[in-house]
Parts: sequence; structure tokens; C-alpha cells
Amino acid sequence: MSYRDRDRSTSSRGFGGRSDGGRGFGDRDRGSRGGMSDRGKASLKGTQPGQGLRKPRWDVHKLPKFEKNFYKEHPVVTRRGHHEIQQFYAAQQITVAGKNVPKPVFSFEEGGFPDYVMNQIRKNGWQSPTAIQSQGWPVALSGLDMVGIAQTGSGKTLAFILPAIVHINHQPYLERGDGPIVLVLVPTRELAQQVQQVAHEFGRLSQIRNACVYGGAPKRPQLKDLEDGAEICIATPGRLIDYLESGKTNLRRTTYLVLDEADRMLDMGFEPQIRKIVEQVRPDRQTLMWSATWPKEVRKLAEDFLHNYIQINIGALQLTANHNILQIIDVCMEFEKEDKLVKLLTEIMQEKENKTIIFVETKRKADDISRRMRRDGWPVICIHGDKSQQERDWTLQEFRSGKIPILIATDVASRGLDVEDIKFVINFDYPNCSEDYVHRIGRTARSSKTGTAYTLFTPGNIKQASDLISVLREAKQVVSPKLLQMAESARGYQGKSRWL
Ligand code: AMP
Repeated sequence: MSYRDRDRSTSSRGFGGRSDGGRGFGDRDRGSRGGMSDRGKASLKGTQPGQGLRKPRWDVHKLPKFEKNFYKEHPVVTRRGHHEIQQFYAAQQITVAGKNVPKPVFSFEEGGFPDYVMNQIRKNGWQSPTAIQSQGWPVALSGLDMVGIAQTGSGKTLAFILPAIVHINHQPYLERGDGPIVLVLVPTRELAQQVQQVAHEFGRLSQIRNACVYGGAPKRPQLKDLEDGAEICIATPGRLIDYLESGKTNLRRTTYLVLDEADRMLDMGFEPQIRKIVEQVRPDRQTLMWSATWPKEVRKLAEDFLHNYIQINIGALQLTANHNILQIIDVCMEFEKEDKLVKLLTEIMQEKENKTIIFVETKRKADDISRRMRRDGWPVICIHGDKSQQERDWTLQEFRSGKIPILIATDVASRGLDVEDIKFVINFDYPNCSEDYVHRIGRTARSSKTGTAYTLFTPGNIKQASDLISVLREAKQVVSPKLLQMAESARGYQGKSRWL
């Protein structure tokens, strides 16, 4: 594959290095920026996020042309037969839907990435692409819209970042006043920072800059990164709207749009903001949407934002947990939970690898339990949505480094949190839905390691029993008779069982 590798030794990425006026990203774009700024200022007085953003009247024929298909199939891939590919799909649990789906690549070499990318991959010691990368790269590099149904931990970040880098390296340089070429929308600050790490690790190799913008942190440093000319912007929706409304940035140059963890963004109520933001991006962009689940709300987003998209599912289509996790369910009463937690942690702390995350239902409970545990001498820290960004960064750093091995968290940390060596997940409180259960326990057993998840399951969770049993059975885990009994009584008495 011939990727245009920009002259990395001499080019200064960012502003003014080169004039691409001839390609159409010149004065016209810069000129309209002032108007946007005024609209933004007016709207800040309003109440609805994004109220001041008007949908541009896009006329695709008048917009500057851009390239999005850079894929040249490797000869080995071309020669590979249908049967071999079907076997690969079955082994990797890949299912695809859509027209003219490019064949998957079986190795990094077949992806045809430039040397500097390959060197980094080798440095990381990775053997082969993950399933989502094998099928995602050929689709994304071909400029096609795609939906990827894949869990965090599946390697999906790299699945969209490497094609993003190739995409950027084929576009004219940014000029002063230009917004990002690649926009990645994410639900949480933690995920934003993780995506940024990957964007930095691979982007810096060709002087690609990024800006990471999220709420709860000072605006000025983030803005500086944006204004300095970032080709990639990784953003939570609220903060980005803020910058768009006030005219601090714009999405006129954006041609590669990623919606990461779309299901989570909808859960968190970001849909209006997402719609506002996507309206600001030219309609002939390439759009990649990622989600761990595929409920009808996510489907609707895909229908509204994507064109003739290819869908890639990784894993069985039902709700499935990572099979490298040992799942232990302890059916007990609410009042027994604290004693059980202490016993469990006493055992865990005797292990050599003991990094543990404990999920609780509310912020208050997280604070309360961590305070009491600390008082009793446990090495515990706590993270939830009310903590300032500084506290959250510090907490994650302490946990990541292993200085403090026990993290108590609300669901804010259940998706996207990528700490490689978490060995135990404890569900002190069962989550509201089984999908959250799967995401929470997925914090352990990252990248083919193993882990253990303990769940305290009480009569108050009875409605979730049968879903949980399906997850356990699919992962070939032991289902305790007590749990089966609960599920049965929930069915028999329509929720009014002796357990309630
Ligand atoms: P993600 O699903 O993007 O959160 O990635 C999960 C983890 O897998 C991260 O720690 C990555 O560094 C790692 N990873 C990504 N791609 C590969 C690969 N091809 N082989 C091994 N590990 C990978």
C-alpha cells in the first residue's frame, strides 16, 4: 500500500508550513469564522447546549474535494480464498454485514502500514491484529462508513486510530483557524485520555498533533492544544459544544468522524449534543461508530449518521463476557455484604498480583466505604463523577502504578478504563443492567490475560438473575443453584417471590 509518508524531518505540522489554498482550504474558510464566533457568544446566554450552533447548509458539490480511500489490498489477501476467510471469521467470532466488505487482513504486514507504524507495533511486542483490527482496518482504510460492535479491550482504539493517521497524512496541512481533521467523540474523560494516549503513541511518528477536550478541567490548556493546530481532536460532547459555540474551533475541516462507545454516550444523555456536533461536520465525511451493544437507539444513530455502512460484530451476538474471566456469584443478603467484602479482600491482598476494582452503586456509597476502609488500614482510593479532574487523574495514576491497589468506583469507571493488570473485579452492588455487568467485569483480563470477578447478588437484584445466568452460561461458568432458584422464582411470581 502506498501511504504518502510526509517528510517528517522537515515539515512542521500545524500552521503555516505550507499553503494549500489551491486545494480550497484558504481564505473562504477563515473568513466565515468570525460569524460563527458571534453566534456562539449570543448562545452562551441560552440554556440548551448547542443552541447557538446553526446547522450549516452543506452543498457537497461546492465543498473542497478530499480523499478517503487509501486501501490497496495486499496480494496475499487478494489470493486468499472464501473458505479460508470463513474459517478465520468463525475462529475469531467475526460477523460482517453490508455490501462489498473488503477481506480481513490476518497479519500487521497485510495491513500495509508504513514502517514507522510497524516499528511501534513491534516495539509493543504485539503478534497479530485483534479481530476488530483484522476486519476494521481494510474497511476504514477504504473510506467506508462502519459500525464496530466490540468491547473495550478488543483493540478497537487502534482499529480507528491507525486509519485516522493515514487519512490525515493524505490531507492538506492545517492552516491557522482550521479545526481538526479527525474528531473522536467519547463519553468520558477517562476514555478521552486513553484514546489520546494511542493517538499520541502512533500519531507523533508523523508529527500529528492531538487535542483532548473534556469537562471538569481548565479550558485554557485544552484550547491551546486546539488552537496550536491539532489534526485529531478527542472530545466529550459537552466541552466540544462549548468551544464550537464560542467559535474557538470549528469542524469544517473534519472528514473522519469517530463516535466511540455510542451506547454509553446515549446512556449518559449525550444524544442532543452529539446530533448538534455531527450537524457541523460535512455530510460526505467518513463516519465510524463503535458500540459494545446494539440496541435500537444506537441503530437509529447509525441510520441517521452513516451511509451504506459495513457492520462488524466481534463475539457472539448475544451479550457475552470475556471468557478469560472467572465469574463467581455469591448470592447473599444485603446486610452480609460488608463482611463478605472484608473476607474477600483479606484473601486477595495475600496474592502477589492483587490490583482490585470494587464497584458500588452511588457516589455517596463510594465515598463512605472508602473512608471507612481507609480508617481500617486498607490501601483504598475512590473515583466517581463528583471528583475533580485533578483528583481523578491522581487517583488513576496511584492505581495504575500499583501504589494503591484497591479502587472503589461507580459506573463512571466501568467502561473505557484501561488499566492492564487489574486481577479482580468485585461487584459490591450489582449494576442496573447486565450490559454494565459485562463492562465492569471486563476491566480485568485485558488483552488475553486472566482475571476473577466476584459479584455479591442479593434478593434486590432478582430481576437481573436470568440475564446474569445467560451471561454465565455463555461463558461456561458455574451457575449456583441459589441463583437458578432466584431466576425461577422471579419468573414464577413475576417478581413477587419469597426473595423480595
Ligand atoms: P482497546 O480495546 O482499544 O481499549 O485496547 C485494549 C488493549 O489492547 C490496549 O491496552 C492496547 O494497547 C492493546 N492492544 C491493541 N491492539 C493490540 C494487538 N494487536 N495485540 C495486542 N494488544 C493490543
